[in-house]
Amino acid sequence: MNQALLRRLPSVDEVMRRPEVEALADRLPRRAVVEAVRRAVESRRTRILAGEQLGDLEPGLEEIERRAAEAHRPSLRRVVNATGVVIHTNLGRAPLAGSSIEYLGSFAGRYANIEYDLEAGHRGSRYDHITGLLAEVIGAEAAHVVNNNAAALLLCSAALARDREIVVSRGELIEIGDGFRIPDVIVQGGAILREVGTTNRTRIDDYEACVGDSTAVLAKIHRSNFYMEGFTEEVSVPELADLARRAGLLVLYDAGSGVLDLPEPLRTSGEPALGRVLKEGADVVTASGDKILGGPQAGIIAGRREVVEVLRRHPMTRAIRPCKLTIGLLHHTLALYRDGRADEIPVFRMLSQGPETLRSRARKLSRRVRAALPGEDWSVEVGSELSAVGGGTLPRERLETWVVRLRSKALSPGEIEEGLRFSDVPIIARIARDHVILDVRTVQDDEIGLVVGALKTLVTAP
Ligand SMILES: *Cc1c(COP(=O)(O)O)cnc(C)c1O
Repeated sequence: MNQALLRRLPSVDEVMRRPEVEALADRLPRRAVVEAVRRAVESRRTRILAGEQLGDLEPGLEEIERRAAEAHRPSLRRVVNATGVVIHTNLGRAPLAGSSIEYLGSFAGRYANIEYDLEAGHRGSRYDHITGLLAEVIGAEAAHVVNNNAAALLLCSAALARDREIVVSRGELIEIGDGFRIPDVIVQGGAILREVGTTNRTRIDDYEACVGDSTAVLAKIHRSNFYMEGFTEEVSVPELADLARRAGLLVLYDAGSGVLDLPEPLRTSGEPALGRVLKEGADVVTASGDKILGGPQAGIIAGRREVVEVLRRHPMTRAIRPCKLTIGLLHHTLALYRDGRADEIPVFRMLSQGPETLRSRARKLSRRVRAALPGEDWSVEVGSELSAVGGGTLPRERLETWVVRLRSKALSPGEIEEGLRFSDVPIIARIARDHVILDVRTVQDDEIGLVVGALKTLVTAP
């Protein structure tokens, strides 16, 4: 039976020869149409082999057109984040401010003076566009920028401690995600990792006892994606700085998140502000540009002038230098902080939203969803929950948020979640306790229509 169906399945060439498909291939890129037909035929073959008794062996024009649009569009594209996790590493961490994107548009398609000093009329440095402002907003003597925080650590290891020891507490040897571990990055930079203390308790005596001729750096790594509670003890930056001064060493602090200023609900979270870490005696601090700072992917380095100068001059710096787009976007984001306009930065704004704002957005979303879906099949409720800030930041903080919970008699939670994910602008939601959860903390007001539209398509789809 299935053999007979398989034999009747048209070939890609046969479908392509149909006049209306020919016409489509003249209108759209031919490559995309051929790919669409190939996928349409292939999906039928797969379903027949799985034992389905298919009726429609010939792919229709609508399906081919839809598949052609899919085959043609870029793999990387915009999504709606309905998870409530503000700094979502899988969803691009920090969305940028609208005014930053506008600024980017003003020079990205043109030449720009990235390494040209307009005043002097000769070669300039790309870093001059950014390091002054970066040092100013942090309150540092000097600053430098690389591609990301991992690159910043690699450079610190290579330039400040090659073949010498970097001392790190066993309670701070962290894995940052996708299997990457800070201690491995330090070792790849050429330093020797010297672990001290125990997982839960490390004292200044532990550092003191291991300092020797080959010691170069005392490092402290912020526990940005987990926390410890109970019988714990750790060494503060001032204690480390005191020891470092006596022993002629440097103190490096990996802050992870790059906090300049925190939104009100998080001011008491204990997340280290970069300027404070330096005031407390660290020689150099590193952070990410696209975590709580809310800017582009970048590695921020700030600290004492002589130390930053050593980093800046190291050959590795050339291999991890940021592009002009990054430098422009980071500068623009920092200027928003400097000018008291931080609430234009999406991450800052989303973290500042109070429960009232979120509740009213959840209600608005639920009203519109109810109006769009057949009431007898769907349950749509509004409720409050606690959500995490996300990717490598504030592991302990839970923020009150408001959500819309969906359930359907016709579709399983998995089918709803998948349907949303497959929509034109994919909506990323999560499933909990047999409901699909839409957390409005990360859904902007102008995205509500997209969520409603996607659900509507889901219930009307054949
Ligand atoms: C996130 C994080 C990193 C890595 O930063 P990237 O900018 O993603 O390279 C390093 N250290 C800590 C403590 C972090 O939280």
